[in-house]
Amino acid sequence: MRLLLVEDDRMIGESLVQALKADGYSIDWAKDGDTAEESLAVQAYDLVLLDIGLPKQSGIAVLQKLRAGKSTVPVIIITARDTLSDKVLGLDSGADDYIIKPFPLAELEARIRARLRRSGGNASPLMEAGGLSLDTAKREITYKGITTPLSAKEYAILFALLEHPGRILSRADLEERLYGWDEEVSSNAVEVHIHQLRKKLDADAIRNVRGIGYMVATA
Ligand code: CA
Repeated sequence: MRLLLVEDDRMIGESLVQALKADGYSIDWAKDGDTAEESLAVQAYDLVLLDIGLPKQSGIAVLQKLRAGKSTVPVIIITARDTLSDKVLGLDSGADDYIIKPFPLAELEARIRARLRRSGGNASPLMEAGGLSLDTAKREITYKGITTPLSAKEYAILFALLEHPGRILSRADLEERLYGWDEEVSSNAVEVHIHQLRKKLDADAIRNVRGIGYMVATA
């Protein structure tokens, strides 16, 4: 899952990038409103974490343009402003959720998971297809009766595949979901993670459609 963090506070930004990468998300970090707008124009994201008070243009302006452009990407506003009018303006401008700084990291993580599940059309924490059951709260996979914990990248791969069972995702599709701007990606990184997953689960858990990509079965 690829997220855009829009935050001008360096300390908050660095700690969020570190924590969310450890959770398996790929994160691009925009430090002002203009960079956020440009990033949203060229890259598809699964979710946006958006500060309101930003250099160059406010988070509200970025959000209003995003929604004017018909984007439905989930947006969680993260801001120190906690007056009623700011909350109302944020939600009325098209934000899906709102969290006030300082917040416990666990609460933001839970809100991100909930938003991503709903945008995948699923309110339950379990994503299921092809005999696989991914618990997005515990970050565990169950296959053929065996439950296994997952590394951050393994989790991200399974999440992407289970979002669209039956759809083939190419290596490039998966790389884009797994790695942010600042991450070096070796040419076989995705293959290595898939290989690990197949060893952990079973070779038939993830199908390799030769020359095209990877998928999980619909049933
Ligand atoms: Ca700010």
